[in-house]
Amino acid sequence: MPLTPSQLRDIAVDFAVLNGLVLATEKSASLQRPISHAPFALNPSNIPKNCFEAAVKLQPLFNTLVHKVSEDAGFLKEPRFVDYFTGRCYEIYTQTQKEGSTQPIILGHHRSDYLLHKNDSDSHVEIQQVELNTMLRRLPVFRQRPLTCTGTSLSSPPYFQYMKILTLFGRFLRSRNGESTDQLPKNNSLTALVAGFAKAWELYGNKDAVIVMVTQPGERNSFDQRWIENTLWQEYGISLIRKSLTELADEGRLVGDKRKLVLNGNIEVAITYYRAGYTPLDYPTEKEWQARLLVERSHAIKSPNVAYHLVGSKKVQQILAQPNMLERFVSPANAVHLRTCFTGLFPLDQSPAGISAYEEALKNPSRYVVKPQREGGGNNIYTTDIPAFLSKLSATERNAYILMELIKPPPARNLLVRNGEILDAEVVSELGIYGIWISGEGGVVYKNEVAGHLLRTKVADSNEGGVAAGFAVLDSPLLV
Ligand code: ADP
Ligand code: MG
Ligand code: MG
Repeated sequence: MPLTPSQLRDIAVDFAVLNGLVLATEKSASLQRPISHAPFALNPSNIPKNCFEAAVKLQPLFNTLVHKVSEDAGFLKEPRFVDYFTGRCYEIYTQTQKEGSTQPIILGHHRSDYLLHKNDSDSHVEIQQVELNTMLRRLPVFRQRPLTCTGTSLSSPPYFQYMKILTLFGRFLRSRNGESTDQLPKNNSLTALVAGFAKAWELYGNKDAVIVMVTQPGERNSFDQRWIENTLWQEYGISLIRKSLTELADEGRLVGDKRKLVLNGNIEVAITYYRAGYTPLDYPTEKEWQARLLVERSHAIKSPNVAYHLVGSKKVQQILAQPNMLERFVSPANAVHLRTCFTGLFPLDQSPAGISAYEEALKNPSRYVVKPQREGGGNNIYTTDIPAFLSKLSATERNAYILMELIKPPPARNLLVRNGEILDAEVVSELGIYGIWISGEGGVVYKNEVAGHLLRTKVADSNEGGVAAGFAVLDSPLLV
């Protein structure tokens, strides 16, 4: 029998807590653990089955594309990473290119994000890509606004580890509510992520070497990261330790001709997995940049390496959307296939295309979003804010932005639960598909996989900036 929303909410909140779908509500250095359930959608959100399947099918192509682009030094010159942050990353890239790498193993973790798009003229719904992340970071969902008290930020639950529980969660709630679970797709994110690490670690070839998760300072006690750490240990006997960029600068040295990365004189690092480093805020001093360079020069396998990081930038996304550009990296058939999920992307630079995009944005701002070269959510400029924003920039400053057509998801409603409270809201769901890539010397590809999915559901009118900004929840897709 269907339950009332509040009956279902009560069951759901406790299920979340009992199964680890939780967040720390305060940062705490002690072993006290103030926790609450992670915000979630009480019902799974409808996603057309063909759209979900299309996104899954695209992932191996995106994995390949990222790799091919990352290997093309000529292409990576084209974006002219003009803003300070990506400019510094590009400097590290050129510096390490000159020196040459001692590590042929490449490990990529990607997530391609999509919104459903409904044409104004007909009822056809399709997926359109929002962006391709090559540096997986915190969930913006939780980052932007603390759930409870202001002033203390939440620990930052990331991605994969919740997905396993989320699948259980979705199934449990559906069945408790007397509904079928057949339309909830399986999600193997954590298993796939950990198996990917294990494979790359094995390829590195030292049984005593560790994996370092590069985290933001103060994240040390966040138990969300323990899922990856514990699963790696339990299933493969591999140690994962967490270090900030500052700690890496203090403790790391390069040893021998291969430039092995060694911490405190005796811990060899097989893999550095960045969960920090995607925003300028992670580099408050030169020391953090030194750490990034140290890692990049080292023999450790990097996820991502700096070339992959750059390929995940908005500017590269825009350049790849130019006519005939994908054909440089993939077969003509795959290029056509990839482009099916592209929406209009334009430069805002001083090229003829950039100047006409600029004029168009001023004329019809309601059709667009302007994006800087940033990650982490909350950086975009939407619709009516665009003209005032662009007119404040000099022509040179505009180089650091791109213009993107607004994707228009069909309207949907859901019950969102945060802090035990139910909000009945108009919502938009963003579907992320994870990908894992591992390759080595001579172009051998060890893994080119789809590694599960993430559905985040946000209050529809938030545009990242409204009253409910940052109010987004974890969700499960219901394939319809
Ligand atoms: P970030 O790297 O900061 O996550 P995104 O490109 O994902 O940047 O943009 C952040 C959010 O802005 C997305 O999650 C989505 O909600 C919204 N958004 C981005 N691009 C578009 C678009 N073209 N149409 C509609 N919404 C968009
Ligand atoms: Mg991003
Ligand atoms: Mg995003």
